[in-house]
Amino acid sequence: MTTGMLELSGITKSYGSRRVLDDVSFTVAPGRLTGFVGGNGAGKTTTMRIILGLLSADGGRVDLDGAPLNTADRRRFGYMPEERGLYPKMKVLEQIVYLARLHGFGKAEATERATALLTELGLGERLNDTIESLSLGNQQRAQIAASLVHDPEVLILDEPFSGLDPLAVDVVAGVLQASAAKGASILFSSHQLDVVERLCDDLVILAGGTIRAAGSRDGLRAEHARDRYELVSAGDAGWLRTEPGVTVVDFEGGYALFDADSPQTAQRVLQTAVERGDVASFAPKHPSLAQIFKEVIQ
Ligand code: ADP
Repeated sequence: MTTGMLELSGITKSYGSRRVLDDVSFTVAPGRLTGFVGGNGAGKTTTMRIILGLLSADGGRVDLDGAPLNTADRRRFGYMPEERGLYPKMKVLEQIVYLARLHGFGKAEATERATALLTELGLGERLNDTIESLSLGNQQRAQIAASLVHDPEVLILDEPFSGLDPLAVDVVAGVLQASAAKGASILFSSHQLDVVERLCDDLVILAGGTIRAAGSRDGLRAEHARDRYELVSAGDAGWLRTEPGVTVVDFEGGYALFDADSPQTAQRVLQTAVERGDVASFAPKHPSLAQIFKEVIQ
């Protein structure tokens, strides 16, 4: 019984003399959504294509449950490529049923699976419309159905959220979370850091072909957490500027964002603020993924 733990170790890849992946190592764990983040040209698509066996690496290995990945394993993968590839003239349901049948499902089960998945993705009313008649966002939902219809053990999605409106992002996110909850290992690339931050359990940050950070989202947040605090008070917070051990990052009227040189300093600031008047809120401020990203790619 496999669990679907995908592991990349020391992957390198060059195009001509240009190295685009350099010693790339990370894992994609079952039951978790791993966000794959990096700017344009960072090497995300190249990495995904190597995982899928569409491109060979110059060095390194890709293992599934500790053994080198093979063609049979990859049949249990789902992939949504960057270049979308559904047949424009085919009807939505027909297309997804066709793909399910390629994965070996009989007609009845293929139809049942395709209908359920498309309905879940919000395309229940569009089953008999052609792909080309759908909006780009809906074509994208159909593409996601295509990668998921066989209940893949490992799911690799290249920018599944690009071009989706916020409502569609939520629908697709829900479907991916349900798939992870059933045990799938999911790797998805995205340049939308807010979406990744909300959705992923684990994160891999790639820049210039090297891994800059990898691990659980919450772990990375904690690792990069500063002693940064946010104070909202009724009175003017300008006094903070002259407090020892305090560096004010942002300030406006009763609002202040500041770094404290120790938790004690933060406590003293809170006490002083309370003594001075109305404190509406005081809380530590964790860094956003966008801030962490900026920090690690430098
Ligand atoms: P990302 O998906 O993160 O935007 P890619 O993996 O597409 O990055 O690209 C990584 C780098 O490899 C880029 O600099 C890109 O120009 C280069 N690259 C990708 N495919 C090829 C190719 N077939 N030939 C030469 N260079 C390529």
